[in-house]
Amino acid sequence: SYLFKDKRPSWFERTLVILKPDGLQRALSGEVLSRFEQRGLQLVAAKLIRPSAAHLKQHYWELRDKPFFTNLVTFMSSGPIIAMVWQGTDAVAIGRAIIGATDPMDALPGTIRGDLCITVGRCEEGPKEYWELIGKRNKFSCLTNSRFRNVVHGSDSVESAKHEIDLWFKPAELVMWERCCHDWVFESP
Ligand code: UDP
Repeated sequence: SYLFKDKRPSWFERTLVILKPDGLQRALSGEVLSRFEQRGLQLVAAKLIRPSAAHLKQHYWELRDKPFFTNLVTFMSSGPIIAMVWQGTDAVAIGRAIIGATDPMDALPGTIRGDLCITVGRCEEGPKEYWELIGKRNKFSCLTNSRFRNVVHGSDSVESAKHEIDLWFKPAELVMWERCCHDWVFESP
């Protein structure tokens, strides 16, 4: 049975994944969900919501001193998102591998960010005319004003996953269910 009291099996690891506003607007929800599903992780919670800036500030609190913090919060609250919890052995690390590097220019093909997006507000040195053309005064204002449209968020450690899941979901919203393919995906002791 999946119901246990004392010891949690290794496949009980959970990670928080968010389909960001750009992902939903670009009709990538099915694509993104299916990548996690097909890899073998199990969906245990999901909801479509439009989070408040205050909620997102809590979510990204670790990044509060970064120059892009305000714009990240503005971007993330600019439209609905889908918050999800995926479960499985090494769910956090597997989730990060499915998602790929923060900057889509560094993300490998085969990852969500490497396949499905381009913009991360990456700022190269360039001629002044270029910055004027795209409406930015300079490299610094590009860095602080650009919106990072990298489709998904995934927890970066087991600790932050626990914290983030608590922030986005009530315990009762996490659904325990037996998946028929469980033993085909995860080795049982
Ligand atoms: N971000 C940004 N500018 C940066 C780095 C990150 O706007 O220079 C945004 C981007 O949307 C990223 C998020 O902040 O996904 C969180 O940053 P983090 O370094 O935690 O990357 P992630 O864990 O999302 O890969």
